[in-house]
Amino acid sequence: MFPENSDSGANVLGKSAEELRAWLESLGEPGYRGAQLYHALYAERRFDFAAMTNLPTALRERLAREAAIVLPKVVRRYESSDGAVRYVLELEGARAGAKPANIETVFMPEENRQTVCISTQAGCAVDCRFCLTATLGLVRNLTVGEIVAQVLVALEDHRASLKPQTNIVLMGQGEPLLNYDAVMSALRILLDPNAIAVSPKHATLSTSGIVPGIERLAQEKVRPKLAISLNASSDEQRDRIMPINRKYPLEKLLGACRKYPLRPWEWLTFEYVLLGGFNDSPDDARRVVKLLANLRAKVNLIPWNPGELPYEKPDAARIEEFRKIVTDKGMMAFVRYSRGQDVMAACGQLALLESAAAQPVLAPPS
Ligand code: SF4
Repeated sequence: MFPENSDSGANVLGKSAEELRAWLESLGEPGYRGAQLYHALYAERRFDFAAMTNLPTALRERLAREAAIVLPKVVRRYESSDGAVRYVLELEGARAGAKPANIETVFMPEENRQTVCISTQAGCAVDCRFCLTATLGLVRNLTVGEIVAQVLVALEDHRASLKPQTNIVLMGQGEPLLNYDAVMSALRILLDPNAIAVSPKHATLSTSGIVPGIERLAQEKVRPKLAISLNASSDEQRDRIMPINRKYPLEKLLGACRKYPLRPWEWLTFEYVLLGGFNDSPDDARRVVKLLANLRAKVNLIPWNPGELPYEKPDAARIEEFRKIVTDKGMMAFVRYSRGQDVMAACGQLALLESAAAQPVLAPPS
């Protein structure tokens, strides 16, 4: 049987190669079958034991009787005019006692690659004031299988048109570093060349700034790139839109970033959602440059997406002025326009609009 804190019974999705080996041995099967099952599941994306032709027929039949591959159900699929697809996925109560929940995943095709944006929690407790997901509160943490399955579902849905490179971004619902163990176990499968084989250079974990999580991530052998959701140029301003800043203020957060062991090819990314009239002034830009001095960092400026929350879309000239002030000081800065805005798949817009819980309840920052 699988360890107690993993998915219920014999759902094999989310299991590591080592867990599958140990489980098959406990059933009296040869351990090496675990590696074959692992490959069929994640590298070949076979979601039916009968289709796992690298396993003997008798084992396939046994697995069909004694195990399951539990994928979330696609309850809605919204296709944007820019090609992005937003999936609303219904999670089963895959763990004993787990609450049923819906989450969202976004697939974004590009010329030579695809990017899958995945959720790590259903809802979120961090309560960023510009984020629709925050209005849901935290429903529950996702399991390893539920995190991995989002990538598998999105890739499988586009099997015929996949490009050679897949990027993954942990920027959907939830704060990844508050579901640390499941997120890291999922990443070990996603980044494993024998499984889903995403390059660590093409995987990005975005955090609101959970300092102990950043310090833990720094110790990991296999890890994605790190992005910090900054969104403000001072503690006073950040406190107003990201209450987590009171717990981990900028000095602590940027201190952890300065100690973070970057690989030779790696840069930290600071995301900065430009909220028109709130954090998009030239003075804000100058303060951001000062804050990030001496960090190997780039800044992604994300103009606010008009959604249900009470902020303005920033002015195009102001966006450009902000970008120029940052780049003139020698720091890389890019303006990122979110994909899939017409299906509410953009940053800060993942909140199950069909859910009654997603009614906007927040006041604008004063
Ligand atoms: S921006 Fe991220 S961390 Fe903040 S509330 Fe939304 S999902 Fe949570």
